[in-house]
Amino acid sequence: MRDYRNFYIDGQWVAPVDPKTADVINPATEAVAGTIALGSVADVNKAVAAARKAFPVWSETTREERLDLLKAIQAEYQRRLPDLGAAIREEMGAPSGLANGFHVGLGAGHLQTAIELLETFPFEELRGSTLIRREPIGVCALITPWNWPMNQTCVKVFPALATGCTMILKPPQLAPFSAQILAEILDAAGVPAGVFNMIQGQGSVIGTALSTHEDVDMVSFTGSEAVGVQIQQDAARTVKRVGLELGGKSAFIVLDDATLADNVAAATTGMMGNSGQTCSAGSRLLVPCARIDDALAVAKAAAEGVTVGDPAGEVAMGPVVSKAQYNIVQDYIAKGLEEGATLVAGGSGRPEGVERGWFVRPTVFLGTNDMVVAREEIFGPVLVIIPYADIDDAVAIANDSPFGLAGYVNGLDTDAVHAIARRLRTGWISMNGGFDFHAPFGGYKRSGNGREWGEFGFHEYLETKSMLGYA
Ligand code: NAD
Repeated sequence: MRDYRNFYIDGQWVAPVDPKTADVINPATEAVAGTIALGSVADVNKAVAAARKAFPVWSETTREERLDLLKAIQAEYQRRLPDLGAAIREEMGAPSGLANGFHVGLGAGHLQTAIELLETFPFEELRGSTLIRREPIGVCALITPWNWPMNQTCVKVFPALATGCTMILKPPQLAPFSAQILAEILDAAGVPAGVFNMIQGQGSVIGTALSTHEDVDMVSFTGSEAVGVQIQQDAARTVKRVGLELGGKSAFIVLDDATLADNVAAATTGMMGNSGQTCSAGSRLLVPCARIDDALAVAKAAAEGVTVGDPAGEVAMGPVVSKAQYNIVQDYIAKGLEEGATLVAGGSGRPEGVERGWFVRPTVFLGTNDMVVAREEIFGPVLVIIPYADIDDAVAIANDSPFGLAGYVNGLDTDAVHAIARRLRTGWISMNGGFDFHAPFGGYKRSGNGREWGEFGFHEYLETKSMLGYA
């Protein structure tokens, strides 16, 4: 049982001003896995004051000083990998293999990327007679979701540290454990007092206090569209920068020349990974009309082959994060059936023989792009397969979405793959499985306005200053 009742403020573990607590539920067992303190506006004020006080010195540190610190954090992060993996498994139900692998690995990848970039990042550049400086924006509020807890935290914390910002991290209430360990890592690595602060608790209290705070210069938010809109409204009065990384309903296009057995199977199991709780998931699988029967057979076999169960064991899929999330996903499955989508695999309720834990059956529908299950982000292991007539039709279907976060194009003719990727109105497209920590990640349309990862992630935390007449 984890007992995390202190916040990390000004380089100290401190008790909350108002000692309110909340239980954290393990979604695989439905049992209490630990307790966290719930912060108040008074805690936020303390953390913001600490970050503000630390900013003048931290923002003036040299590249080398910040590199030394990031490398010390890296050593400590590596030492705590098993602790982080266990925390992620308990807090959001990721299977051990996934939690200890991709989950913690993404965090490590963002840290390594920040180190690589900081070695040479051009904070100053001469253009004609003007010196252009990129300066840390100031005190940043980092508000994160529960679905990839280390990924989303590290993709904010390390660029913010590398660029000389100070910060207050507000982790998700559903999955607060791994952030607590990250704070321990930063403390042990010697992050100066006030540079990094962390307060746990409710978004409506702490998040709002941060978004409206006079002394917070920037909010970097990853989460739902509704909260993103609220934060933008809350932040407007103080004209602070708001970076939004929101939801998606991304298309995975399998081209006519692609092997269905590999590509449809990969798209299906990919959708079920992390129990479908991935903003960039390829949740609409587009396959050529002429090959739909074969595609359905492959998808059915792949979905039925996904092992679901106790995340401590050797399974491919654990539960979804909470009872509320389970109910949302069940409602969408019912909606799909009601609106006439053909059930290819899975369906309502828990997998056979499972009575406890928020486990969902890996579900595949054959549907059309106007169905609710093809338009809204379900955030569960539900794939909708949509047939397309030709390339123009595939691109039109892919782009016919209120979201524009990610896309996937798989095929043998690389010229065709590239041409299609160019036509997709999304911010991040993986072609034939491409992956890159340095590639900017973020959305078009209602998927947000920010660009994280790599060099573009640094720019989120930088102001641009022009010094005219320099040369
Ligand atoms: P959420 O919006 O409910 O919560 C995200 C964070 O915001 C939490 O820390 C929460 O406590 C806080 N919050 C809640 N109300 C707030 C308020 N009024 N002011 C400030 N903060 C507040 O999202 P979630 O359910 O944790 O995460 C799932 C969503 O995140 C999905 O829509 C998913 O697509 C999206 N997501 C996007 C990306 C991306 O990079 N684009 C990545 C992961 C998840």
